[in-house]
Amino acid sequence: MRWPLIAAAVGTALVLGGCGKNIPPESNSRSVFAMDTYMTVTVNDGRIGDALNGAETELKRLDGLWSVTTEGSDMYRLDNAGGAPTEVSPETAELIAFGQEMYDLTDGALDITLYPVVREWGFTTGEYKIPDQAAIDGLLKNTGADRITVSGNTVTLPQGMSADLGSLGKGAAGDAVTAILKKNGVTSALLDLGGNVQVIGAKPDGSPWRIGLRDPWSEGSLGRLELTDCAVVTSGGYERFFVGEDGVTYWHILDPETGCPARSGIASATAVGKEGRLCDGLSTSLFVLGEEGAEELWRSMDSFDMILVTDDRRLIITEGIADSFTLGESYEGVIKTEVLRR
Ligand code: ADP
Ligand code: MG
Repeated sequence: MRWPLIAAAVGTALVLGGCGKNIPPESNSRSVFAMDTYMTVTVNDGRIGDALNGAETELKRLDGLWSVTTEGSDMYRLDNAGGAPTEVSPETAELIAFGQEMYDLTDGALDITLYPVVREWGFTTGEYKIPDQAAIDGLLKNTGADRITVSGNTVTLPQGMSADLGSLGKGAAGDAVTAILKKNGVTSALLDLGGNVQVIGAKPDGSPWRIGLRDPWSEGSLGRLELTDCAVVTSGGYERFFVGEDGVTYWHILDPETGCPARSGIASATAVGKEGRLCDGLSTSLFVLGEEGAEELWRSMDSFDMILVTDDRRLIITEGIADSFTLGESYEGVIKTEVLRR
């Protein structure tokens, strides 16, 4: 286990513990270590035991399919197939195809085949280094999610390319677990999948869930969202980063055009919507696209809302969630809020 990475990854979005009476007993909650992070599922009603067991089994199963480092996993076999067609499970084929859709939708800002470049920077192992531009340029020649072929459950990745579902996996896992919980009669639940928050219904007392928005510059929370039935996913440069010998901070979200950490003026990007995998892919994409590109994408779709926190201390929030957001008191006058309307 890579503890420094784990510590860095926890708390992207924060679940705000309310007063004691709202915290369900321990037995309603299950924590699992999967996808390189701690995941906690809290269920308030329905067949609680079956729901939690089902959630745990599913999270471990999906981790087993998508881990690029576990020999024999779908992604490991695909990445090591040397260009040969590879039979994978339906979930994997579907998520790869979804990765291709996201690549199209975002004009290449989200590219699941960027993995060799991510690896070159050391973000997969924690052995960080600043690669030379020639190495990056070489690796970028073998990227482009549009070059993957998905036919049924058979996936073909051209020789020399590798893919990783790290930018989508936690969101997709959130969707899968949500479906399992609902099948078990759950109408109120909270999933905290390493900072990806997904909620079913409302809190047991009927009030909306309170989801904290992490302050990109410190450990605290910038404000809170009060929402029901949705996924809230944040991506930020503070999640996984290192400071190079040149004193510059380098983070784990890369711009597929340059192969270097995306510097778009965004400190954190949060996507809110019904679908976890979409929000997961979008949060990463919005961070890469920057303010203008993110706004353009939001205007072209009606399936998500967003919060962008900019390096120059502005908070841009779309109208669908503007009334659900409360800025923390200590940020009043420090962070300027702007609402985007259609
Ligand atoms: P996290 O998984 O840390 O919550 P994200 O969902 O934003 O964060 O995914 C970032 C991960 O996706 C990185 O750790 C890296 O493996 C990979 N990645 C980085 N840049 C991109 C990109 N532009 N497109 C697709 N995947 C990326
Ligand atoms: Mg993401």
